Amino acid sequence: MTCLHNRHISPVVLAGLDGSNWRLRDYVARGGYEAMKRILSEKISPDRVIDEVRISGLRGRGGAGFPTGLKWSFMPRRHAGKKYLICNSDEGEPGTFKDRDILRYNPHAVIEGMIIAAYAMGVTIGYNYIHGEIWAEYERFEEAIEEARAAGFLGQRILGSEFSFQLHAFHGYGAYICGEETALIESIEGKKGQPRHKPPFPASVGLYGRPTTINNTETFASVPFVMSMGGAKYAALGKPNNGGSKIFSISGDVELPGNYEVPVGTPFATLLALAGGVRNGKKLKAVIPGGSSSPVVHGDVMMQTDMDYDAIAKAGSMLGSGAVIVLDETRCMVKSLLRLAYFYYEESCGQCTPCREGTGWMYRVIKRIENGEGKSEDLDLLLSIADNIQGRTICAFGDAAAMPVRSFVQNFRSEFEHHIKHGKCMVSPYV
Ligand code: SF4
Repeated sequence: MTCLHNRHISPVVLAGLDGSNWRLRDYVARGGYEAMKRILSEKISPDRVIDEVRISGLRGRGGAGFPTGLKWSFMPRRHAGKKYLICNSDEGEPGTFKDRDILRYNPHAVIEGMIIAAYAMGVTIGYNYIHGEIWAEYERFEEAIEEARAAGFLGQRILGSEFSFQLHAFHGYGAYICGEETALIESIEGKKGQPRHKPPFPASVGLYGRPTTINNTETFASVPFVMSMGGAKYAALGKPNNGGSKIFSISGDVELPGNYEVPVGTPFATLLALAGGVRNGKKLKAVIPGGSSSPVVHGDVMMQTDMDYDAIAKAGSMLGSGAVIVLDETRCMVKSLLRLAYFYYEESCGQCTPCREGTGWMYRVIKRIENGEGKSEDLDLLLSIADNIQGRTICAFGDAAAMPVRSFVQNFRSEFEHHIKHGKCMVSPYV
């Protein structure tokens, strides 16, 4: 495994953790499970818990950025049968590696966050769907569940209260598409992990046809801190409409790749400096700011941009999962896009024609450009294929595959044209 650097300038999910202090006794010593105990002992109402989360400005940390408190309020309150809570730890997008570190370093924060969420929404059963390609984190989470159960924090009538909650770890199947919430639900049900048509949304028809709420690992791990410090104080860590702290996974051409937890809205330049700057003193060329599906942005634009949902949108991209991929001046943008295009071609579940056929078509066109066999009409063809995928598929994967192609071609068109005209790369003589 790559050596990762974990640093933080806002003391929340990853603060003070080094991999040796993940056990229940360590978490309790840091004040863990206090928020849950206070909610149960003081009989704080579910509505107040949801309000506090709403005030915190916490937004889904898995990519969509949907307000967490609002999502929780969608769960039907008077539903007579079972309801489910799911943690989405199916992290599989190129560049993302924060959730596995949370499971490794702070699994009890996820468990406590899920208990609080289950209490707030009146749920009694939860699952953590953990990506199929990570086994050690799955085992650690299982161990943490056992510790919490033995301490009376999970199971029937938690700490003598009226509230019961069972939590299970579920080892996923390793397909990227299983991270899409309805594909994940299908996968837990034992079916092929393929997205469902929406609506109905999981809040009304989810796991086993029952109301279900799904949040990302980092979102749940943030909840105990929201409840401990109070929604307003948590929100004040970040900026208006962009509350709290966030973990950014920085990879690519930086000196110190790793996870960095900073207030939402921290300038990109600060984040880059935390990661040691661009490797070997090279010039920054481009940044993919929110995971491989987010549009690529010119480096000089990113140096003027803050890392929050609104500022990144203004720069023409998305904060997404917070996976920041840094590209220096020596990177060939055709080759970089080819790698991403192959990923989406490989991972399409094949249900809808625009995605199934379009991802392979885009990959083949980019490949021939990279191989020096591109045609003058290829760039327009690529944009046209991307247009015919985006917005025309069952799930957001189609958009995720189309957006990088569109942004790479639009922002770095001259590099693509050079490949087509001269049959070779303009930045690297070796490719
Ligand atoms: Fe499957 Fe792609 Fe359609 Fe999503 S967009 S359902 S991944 S074929």
